Amino acid sequence: MRAPSGRPLYGAQYSRLLKAPRYEILALVFVRQPGFLLDRDSAHLKAVLGGKTVQDVGLLPKHLDEEVIQKAWERGLIIVTANQDDFIRKIYRFQQKQQESDCHDLFGLVVVPNKNFDAQRVLGPLKRGIRIEGKDLSRRDIHDQNLFVHVERSGRVDVKRFPMCFYCKKLKVRDVPEWLERLQVVGLPKPKVTQ
Ligand SMILES: [Zn+2]
Repeated sequence: MRAPSGRPLYGAQYSRLLKAPRYEILALVFVRQPGFLLDRDSAHLKAVLGGKTVQDVGLLPKHLDEEVIQKAWERGLIIVTANQDDFIRKIYRFQQKQQESDCHDLFGLVVVPNKNFDAQRVLGPLKRGIRIEGKDLSRRDIHDQNLFVHVERSGRVDVKRFPMCFYCKKLKVRDVPEWLERLQVVGLPKPKVTQ
């Protein structure tokens, strides 16, 4: 079974969908905007973006980034964080795990400035969508195509894409639209130097 975006539905998502009442399925497919999962450092953005905090999805105050990633994947939420490098690195690891029997692509990562910025002005437009190089990207696109959205303090937005997960790459189960193919792939940050 596939989502309207052409992404396969799988695992936890799929079993949730099977149990959901029919009107909920319709809402999921046609109406509901994908939600955000706000990392600990971005919980204060709930007033602007809506969405769920890590506590809202049942994580303890002392949780690992990996748990945030797991929850976002299970629930199909877009992660919002200021912790760019750690999340990119850990998302890579999550998506490239081998011997998975289903798709492990995430649902987008939004990187926001670290504190002290005009959240309403900078992030307000993101609720509706963004425009890059003449193309309008909706929040649904960010979610369905697992986009990487980097928002600067000035409001400037840079969009890239994550490489497909190990499973999708191996089985070639997904078609990639042309506009997506043209986006730059998120690079893996250099490893941290410990001194
Ligand atoms: Zn995949």
